[in-house]
Amino acid sequence: MAAITTEEQDRLEFDWDVTKRLVSYLTPNKTRIYWALAASVLSAAASVAGPPIVSWAIDQGVHTRNLTVVGAGVLAYLITQGLGALAFRVQIRLMAVTGQRAIQALRNDLFSHLQHMSLSFFAKYETGRLIARIINDVNTLREAITWAVVGTFRDLLSLIGVVITMILINLPLTLVSFGVLAILIFVANIWRIYARKTYLAVVETNAKVNAELAEAFNGVRVTQAFNRQAYNYDRFATTFNYNNRASNIRATLVASLFFPSIELIGGVATGLLIYVGGTLVLQQELSIFTLLTFVLYVDQFFQPIRMLAQRYNLFQSVMAAGYKLFHLLDRPIEISDRADAALLPQIEGHVTFDQVSFTYEEESDTVVLNDINLDVPAGTTVALVGHTGAGKSTLVKLLMRFYDVTEGAVKIDGVDVRVVTQNSLRSQMGVVLQETYLFSGTVMDNIRYGRLNASDAEVIDAAKAVGAHDFITALENGYHTEVREGGSLLSQGQKQLLAFARALLADPRILILDEATSNIDTQTEKVIQTALGRLLEGRTSFVIAHRLSTIVNSNLIVVMDHGKVIEQGSHQELLARNGAYAGMYTMA
Ligand code: ADP
Repeated sequence: MAAITTEEQDRLEFDWDVTKRLVSYLTPNKTRIYWALAASVLSAAASVAGPPIVSWAIDQGVHTRNLTVVGAGVLAYLITQGLGALAFRVQIRLMAVTGQRAIQALRNDLFSHLQHMSLSFFAKYETGRLIARIINDVNTLREAITWAVVGTFRDLLSLIGVVITMILINLPLTLVSFGVLAILIFVANIWRIYARKTYLAVVETNAKVNAELAEAFNGVRVTQAFNRQAYNYDRFATTFNYNNRASNIRATLVASLFFPSIELIGGVATGLLIYVGGTLVLQQELSIFTLLTFVLYVDQFFQPIRMLAQRYNLFQSVMAAGYKLFHLLDRPIEISDRADAALLPQIEGHVTFDQVSFTYEEESDTVVLNDINLDVPAGTTVALVGHTGAGKSTLVKLLMRFYDVTEGAVKIDGVDVRVVTQNSLRSQMGVVLQETYLFSGTVMDNIRYGRLNASDAEVIDAAKAVGAHDFITALENGYHTEVREGGSLLSQGQKQLLAFARALLADPRILILDEATSNIDTQTEKVIQTALGRLLEGRTSFVIAHRLSTIVNSNLIVVMDHGKVIEQGSHQELLARNGAYAGMYTMA
């Protein structure tokens, strides 16, 4: 997995576009946000009102020994602070709901978009990275929405409130406090530079740990087979996890220098204030009320600044996360329906490849398929044979329109696959891959994946037809046995049979089948061959064939080599030609 790229790093600063897009996810919650803003005004007002009330109670009550004033002061203080706390709670609650709703919408959009991305996208983008985006980056945004959006507004508001009140009460003393602010800004600026650096390092090492984990667990079988656990552990522990720790500690170190410095500066400000203000009080040029209010305000003054600085990190991650997420959302769907795409009517299954050429990358000169011409009448079973890399899989991917041809056209019943909707096209095709992918759920659910509205009886009929019924009923809970994700509970042969049942249930006019290459015992092989016979019956089938029995029994054998069709015909015809196929057959 790539660490964050320079392109992504550059996006840590404010980005207007990202902000606008983020706001668009907030607009459905407009009313909630307005209320939260109103609540934040109230809670900021309460915090600004606190110090003068306290100072008044002490100055007018304690100082003059007037208990009624003290009581009134305490009551006023409790009421304002209570209201403030209530408003704060309302604000947090409203924004938490807003945050959750916004990221729910964003995740839905991402899921929907990514599901339509072409295979070439998934070939390039690691699953681990995608999941990290959808989980971590989206979470960063949620956190920011919940805590920072209105929170920052509240902090700014109370900061402004405090400053205005200070100026109104006593300008010279305000200027004394501001003198210290200059030092604060200076320190915060230096900190910002270091914080950015250490933050980037943390992001990068986190990404590496994620990538390493994903690879380690995805490839755990190979690791164990080759006994590489110790090596992998060493790599993880001494490189990735070590660097991650180091970068996190460095980030904490920078923070541990900054926040105490702010405290210290706050302390200096208080000291200075008491010294200057105290002198003025002694000279009877300043009231105790003013001095007290200012001393209490110093803390209220530094608190929002501390929060704003703390949010700087979050703000950076929001920009980075937002940029990456929207970048993902904006990736064009390569294979999309034309604006005028028609529905493909019920097909017969007559397939033609008309002078088809194909390259995977636009500018690449490696032509994967070169001038393919095939005419496959409806109901034909075509066996595709040839060396690895000859282009067999690519050919069927073009038929399913996972990619668009570079030249020529693929037609079904004379209709170019590019002019119809993908839905109407693929719903009439079935595919059985070499590795059967089973989803978590029951055996029944997995077969029904072929046709979601099939009844239980239809599912069982399909299983019976392909000879899967016996082994399914022998499972612990029969059709209701949970197959764990990936189907590790079942053998290779059993998974194939489930895939056959799934395809048979879907009953497509065109079937694409990539025969499993792995060794299956002769007994299962027989069952599978019979099942295959049932499955191929009466439909146009393209089989990437590895078994002689499948090949010999096909109506049409297409021999491919380096992206070309070098021979085609029936088994007998090709043997009679005594060419490449005859060579392969006699070798086998
Ligand atoms: P076969 O199925 O006959 O083994 P493929 O159709 O899988 O052959 O591959 C044909 C050629 O296309 C190979 O050279 C392979 O390296 C290349 N190829 C396959 N998939 C991709 C891809 N996603 N991107 C780029 N090249 C690919």
